[in-house]
Amino acid sequence: MFKKILIANRGEIALRIQRACREMGIKAVVVYSEADRDAKYVRLAEEAVCIGPAASSLSYLNMPAIISTAEVTDAEAIHPGYGFLSENADFAERVQQSGFVFIGPTPESIRLMGDKVSAKQAMIKAGVPCVPGSEGALPEDPKEIIKIARTVGYPVIIKAAGGGGGRGMRVVHTEAALVNAVQMTRTEAGAAFGNPQVYMEKFLENPRHVEIQILADEHKNAVWLGERDCSMQRRHQKIIEEAPAPGIPRRVIEKIGDRCAAACKKMGYRGAGTFEFLFENGEFYFIEMNTRVQVEHPVTELVTGIDIVQMQIRVAAGEKLPFLQRQIEMRGHAIECRINAEDAYKFTPSPGRITMWHPPGGPGVRVDSHAYTNYYVPPNYDSMIGKIIVHGDTREQALARMRTALSEMVVEGIQTNIPLHRELMADAKFIQGGTSIHYLEHWMSEHTR
Ligand code: ADP
Repeated sequence: MFKKILIANRGEIALRIQRACREMGIKAVVVYSEADRDAKYVRLAEEAVCIGPAASSLSYLNMPAIISTAEVTDAEAIHPGYGFLSENADFAERVQQSGFVFIGPTPESIRLMGDKVSAKQAMIKAGVPCVPGSEGALPEDPKEIIKIARTVGYPVIIKAAGGGGGRGMRVVHTEAALVNAVQMTRTEAGAAFGNPQVYMEKFLENPRHVEIQILADEHKNAVWLGERDCSMQRRHQKIIEEAPAPGIPRRVIEKIGDRCAAACKKMGYRGAGTFEFLFENGEFYFIEMNTRVQVEHPVTELVTGIDIVQMQIRVAAGEKLPFLQRQIEMRGHAIECRINAEDAYKFTPSPGRITMWHPPGGPGVRVDSHAYTNYYVPPNYDSMIGKIIVHGDTREQALARMRTALSEMVVEGIQTNIPLHRELMADAKFIQGGTSIHYLEHWMSEHTR
């Protein structure tokens, strides 16, 4: 096992990875930007090195600075967390070439899945069901594009091969708007992702977002750890996640889970990963694979009792997965609410000093956050400042625990989305379970003035 790991991230996930290291007797080195200098998790680490100014491009995305920090601190491996460099194949490659272990999949796997066109083709080959659409990237010829859309059937969605974070997508309802929409998405994709390739999918009108967590080692073992329902989204950003997904028969989940694990074996995948699906009328349709740990991983940890971050570290060190599929048991129900520093209803960011931070507690309550009283939320990064995750024997109990936790939670000095979470946990449709990816946006338009 590694003696020392460098954590190339910030915020709650940097703390989460540190906790995993500490439990495993591994020393942690954290890198931080000038904006995160006073963050508590930075001081908790065995070593901390400032790698640049606040701007991510000069710090958390600064590959030479991160790699040379690993060199001078004698770290053996680098954990990229989520976001930043976590899905950057070039970074993974440079880490390896510099003699360190990248805690994640191989650069080849990241590259394959990072291009959504090649990812989809790999999935079709591996027998994972996909959203019907163009075979690969769209051609230049407008007539061909129109032909493809007629076969797929309107509405269609044009998506950038290199897209991510909910950007680089455009829904098209009519043939008249098609060619122009493709052109616009291409131009935007070229500028934003350095890859102008786009592809077409049938736009599913009322799907749920259900994803499968997998773990794989380099000894050809792969397991799936159940599913997560992440349908509560705004602008394609998840805000509430839960496991299991309400109302989907276990045999339907098992079938897709087994397919995902089989696909990992076939691809020679190593590490943690998530297969994201849209789920509509009883069918799963693959949309993309994330080759990293996800924000919502704790809900899976609470229902399976498996520490996903520790498993990432173990398989990166070459260990075998310590369990077989049939030994994985799911217990109860878990729900996560992402706490963002933002106006609860307008979603404008609300950085600044937290004058009072009082997290909830009690049975089945977990808070993953780097925040504390007097912590300054820098304006330079993502607005998420923590997550409340609860576990109960049943979904009802988990909901009750989340309501209690949200009622206890106090954050003063900045605005947060806690009031929104409180309302959603009391919403009849959400309580019923199984709402679609559009539910939250509809709810917002009805409930906000
Ligand atoms: P990203 O990598 O940017 O997150 P995804 O392919 O995962 O892109 O899609 C993000 C979100 O966009 C999905 O969760 C869903 O809300 C919506 N979406 C993507 N593809 C489709 C589709 N074919 N039909 C309907 N909605 C879609």
